Amino acid sequence: MDRPGRLVLLGHPLGHSLSPRFHNAALEAAGIPLRYEALDVPPVDLPRVLQSLRAEHAAGNVTIPHKERVRHACEVVTPLAARVGAVNTFWTEDGTLYGDNTDVGGFDAAVGRLLGTRPSSVTVGLLGAGGAAAAVVAAVERWPDSRVLVFNRTAERADALCARFGSVAQRIGDREELASAHIVVNATSVGLHDDAFPIELEVLRKDAALVDLVYRAGETAWVRAARARGHQALDGLPMLIEQGALAFERWFGRAPDREVMWRTVQPS
Ligand code: NAP
Repeated sequence: MDRPGRLVLLGHPLGHSLSPRFHNAALEAAGIPLRYEALDVPPVDLPRVLQSLRAEHAAGNVTIPHKERVRHACEVVTPLAARVGAVNTFWTEDGTLYGDNTDVGGFDAAVGRLLGTRPSSVTVGLLGAGGAAAAVVAAVERWPDSRVLVFNRTAERADALCARFGSVAQRIGDREELASAHIVVNATSVGLHDDAFPIELEVLRKDAALVDLVYRAGETAWVRAARARGHQALDGLPMLIEQGALAFERWFGRAPDREVMWRTVQPS
């Protein structure tokens, strides 16, 4: 693939995003003369913006609320992005828009970092049923002999997710059923703006490992409390960095310097 003409993050509202910080550090370390820019794109403007990005031979990432619509806008998507139903990484080749989903690999890497191994024969308790939850189920689907119990505030959305993933995912009607889960994942936005917990820790197995996809400066309150109670726990930062590193590989055909990326998000 030719080098992208422009590198962007599409979201709305973007708020504070760490991605430009670590991507620009990785670009500089690799000697690639491009800047990664965050573009706040209201949904109504998405088709027009994608059209001009295509003409500019652009590549980039996609975040809330555009992942599903960009998946449909891409002429070619990887089997994984099709499975998840969402594109978080895109690029242009000869005027054709390509899409992939690196959230799945990012989640896989975060769990590997937490447990030191790829899980097998595990029950995953999943809170949430949006795009991030779909990436989690797609990852677990590739783990041997594993299944996901899905709890979501809106039951219909959990039903729709489970229907797409067949036997690996099952909706539960009561959060207490997560008591059997070996790994518990928060894929809701609870805890993003305050110290609310997606689920009380007392409900969970004492040896459950916890992954919060939400990230905040100083980690989320849920992750801090879980660690204090003796759980292995991780917030969304390792997944964020790794999905970004995998996206960089798609755009440039080479790995970024992950150490450099990590350094930009360490507290000074
Ligand atoms: P989404 O598609 O909008 O889904 C949001 C989910 O959160 C839905 O399941 C929604 O439930 C639930 N939710 C929202 N407010 C809630 C509340 N007050 N109580 C209970 N459930 C609530 O968003 P998404 O793309 O899946 O992202 C979800 C979270 O993951 C976000 O915080 C995002 O920042 C994070 N994320 C992190 C990474 C990473 O790299 N670390 C990557 C992707 C996403 P309903 O269906 O009932 O509305």
